This record gives sequence, structure tokens and C-alpha cells, in this order.
Amino acid sequence: MPEDLQDLQDLSRSERRRLKRERGKAERGLAKGNEEKKRRQKKLLAYGIFLTGIIIVAYAGLNLFPKTTPPAAVIGPAPNDHWHATYEVILCGEKQEQYPETPGGVHTHGDGQIHIHPHTPLQAGENANVRLFFFSVNGELKSDYIKLPGGKEYRNGDKCPDGKEGSVKIIVNGKEREEKEKYPIKDGDKVRIEFG
Ligand SMILES: [Zn+2]
Ligand SMILES: [Zn+2]
Repeated sequence: MPEDLQDLQDLSRSERRRLKRERGKAERGLAKGNEEKKRRQKKLLAYGIFLTGIIIVAYAGLNLFPKTTPPAAVIGPAPNDHWHATYEVILCGEKQEQYPETPGGVHTHGDGQIHIHPHTPLQAGENANVRLFFFSVNGELKSDYIKLPGGKEYRNGDKCPDGKEGSVKIIVNGKEREEKEKYPIKDGDKVRIEFG
């Protein structure tokens, strides 16, 4: 074999080895790339599952706390409830006698108690208030005015026998109520209607 041909064969042999090495490297690289791709896909899948989980949890949470607000709590008694409260009427420091039995959904049986058993919605809820009780005893009660069953009237600014100007106060369980005559009476209340 001529020397240069031998060289050429050697060259091609070493060339072939180089090519083989390179192909191997490339294949390994490709395999590595594929692995990375697979890993990335797995990661994406994991993220997807994670996000889906969050969405499901969030949705469940929204369902647990629905946006629709529950119906507003009804103030006062419903028709056919039967509540009791005590009452006192104190005018210029003088406690009045108990009223005799009276009619209506918010009334008394002459026992010093307010009986609240509404027959209609008009006597129930917020309507079952101190004003309705005073209407039942044949008086009239406003935020600044009291008319007794006998017709005697007290207006804010009127003077009591002691010379002091009086005003209407509705005190429930020891606390003065801003709602005054509109205070809806609750079961077990101690109601004091005062002028002084
Ligand atoms: Zn009763
Ligand atoms: Zn009754």
C-alpha cells in the first residue's frame, strides 16, 4: 500500500472514530435534552395540578361562604310568639299604678307585664314596640310626648313639680334607648317609661 494511501486510510479511520465520538456525544446530548424536556413537562404538569387544586379549593371556599347574604335577622317577635317583659311608668319620679288588662298584640293582663303575642305582622317584629304597648293601654307615646290613658299630657320641656324640665326616656334593662318609643320589646326585657 502506498504510504499516502495508508495515511489517508489512517486519517479516515481516525476521522471515523472522531465522527463516532461526536455522534455519541450528540446522541447523549439529545438524550439529555429529552430528559430535560420531560422534566420540564413533568414540572408543568405538577404546576397545572397545583393550580387546579388551588382553583378547586378557592371555588369550594366561595361556596362555603356564598356571596348571597343571609336574610336580615328579624327584629322583634313573629306572629304566634309569646314573649313577656316587665314595665314601669315613672312620671316626675312617681311610679304609676299597673294598667288593667288591655287588648292588642302587645298588651298587659294587669300583672305589671307586657305580653307580646302578635296576631298579625302589623303587631310583630319592629312594630311590637313600646309605642304599641302604650297604644294598647289607651295612651300615646312619642319620642318627646306622653299621653296617659286618663288624658294627662307630658311634653319635653314641661316642668315637673320640683321645677325641673322633664323629657321622655325609654330605659330598657337599665340602659336608655335612643329608639325611644320605637324600641322593639324583647322577651325578658325590663322596660321603664319615664318622664323627668
Ligand atoms: Zn302572656
Ligand atoms: Zn295575652
